[in-house]
Amino acid sequence: MSTTSSETLSLDLRGDVAHLTAALMDIESVSGNETAIADAVEAALRALPHLSVLRDGDAIVARTSLGRAQRVVLAGHLDTVPLPTTPGSRGTVPSSWEGETLYGRGATDMKGGVAVQLALAAALTEPNADITYVFYDHEEVEASLSGLGRLVDHHPELLTDASFAILLEPTNGAVEGGCNGTMRFKVATTGTAAHSARAWMGENAIHKAAPILARLAAHEPATIHVDGLDYRESLNAVRIHGGVAGNVIPDRCEVEVNYRFAPSRSIEEADAYVRELLEGFDVERTDAAAGARPGLDVPAAASFVAAVGARALPKYGWTDVARFSALGIPAVNFGPGDALLAHSDNEHVEADAIRECLAALTRWLA
Ligand SMILES: [Zn+2]
Repeated sequence: MSTTSSETLSLDLRGDVAHLTAALMDIESVSGNETAIADAVEAALRALPHLSVLRDGDAIVARTSLGRAQRVVLAGHLDTVPLPTTPGSRGTVPSSWEGETLYGRGATDMKGGVAVQLALAAALTEPNADITYVFYDHEEVEASLSGLGRLVDHHPELLTDASFAILLEPTNGAVEGGCNGTMRFKVATTGTAAHSARAWMGENAIHKAAPILARLAAHEPATIHVDGLDYRESLNAVRIHGGVAGNVIPDRCEVEVNYRFAPSRSIEEADAYVRELLEGFDVERTDAAAGARPGLDVPAAASFVAAVGARALPKYGWTDVARFSALGIPAVNFGPGDALLAHSDNEHVEADAIRECLAALTRWLA
C-alpha cells in the first residue's frame, strides 16, 4: 500500500482493526508531517453520513448529534516520534508482521488507538451516548504546538459539551486516570566572589546551597488519595549550577527543583507547599502545569470502568488528559499496547490487544 502527496489513501474502517492499524502506520506521520494521514482520516470520516466533520490544520473533529443525555470524547494524536536511525530496527515505516505481532513506528503510540477510534466511528451509527472523535497533530513535540491545544483555542464549543473524555494512549488495557501536576523552581543563593587563595575575603554561595539539598533529601514525598486513586508525589533537585572558575569563590548558586504534585492540589497550593519547605531561600517558580483529577466518580466514568472491566491506575507523567481536565472534563487514558515500548526502536503491539480495546469500547457505547 502506498500514497503520494497528490492522492489520498483510502482506509477500510470496517475490516480488521489490527490491519487498519498497519495501514495507518504505513503513512509516515512524524510530528510536523501529519498532512497525509490527516487527509486519509478526514476522507474516511466524511464518508460517514452520521458524523459532522471539521478540519483545523491537521486536526479533525467528528461528532454524532443524536441528542443523547451524555457526550463523550474519544481522542488520539496522529503524529509519531521520529523513525529509528539504527539500521535493521523494526519500529519504523513501513510496518511489518511477525505472526500476530505488528512492528513499526506508532504501533503502540498510538496508531492502534487511532484505528480503534476510526473503527468505532464507522460501526457506531447509533451509540448510546453522543461521541466526539478528536484526531490531532503535534502531540510528541513542545506543548505550544499541540493540535489539541489549538482546537481548544479555535473551537472550544466542539469539546466543552462533553462530560467525559478518553485518550486512547497505550495503557496495556488498563484505565489510567488523571495525572500529577508538575512545576519547576529556581532556588538561588548568593555570596561574595573572592580569590580562593584568600577565601576569607569572600562568601561561598555553593556552600550556602547545602541546606537546600539537605531539606530536599530529607523530605518524604506524600501519597495522596484522589477520587479513588493513590497519587505518589515527588520533590527533587534536578539540576545545580554554580561557580565560574577553579580558583574563584562562587558568588551565585542555583538549584533547579521539580515538584510532581497530586491532582488534588492547585498550582497555588503546590507552590505554597514548596515555598514553606524552602523557607528562607530565594525561590522563583519557572513553570507549572496543573494535574488532572481522575474523575472516576462521575457517572460516565464509572459506567466506562464497569463496562470495560479494567483496573484503574494513577498516571504519573503529565499527559493531555490535563487539557481536558482544564476544560472541566474528567479524562482517562485507555488504549492498546505497552507504553514502555512507545518511542523505542522495537515498537510493536499484539493484534489482539487492539481488537480487545475495540471490543471493550463497543460494549460500553453500543
Ligand atoms: Zn502518545
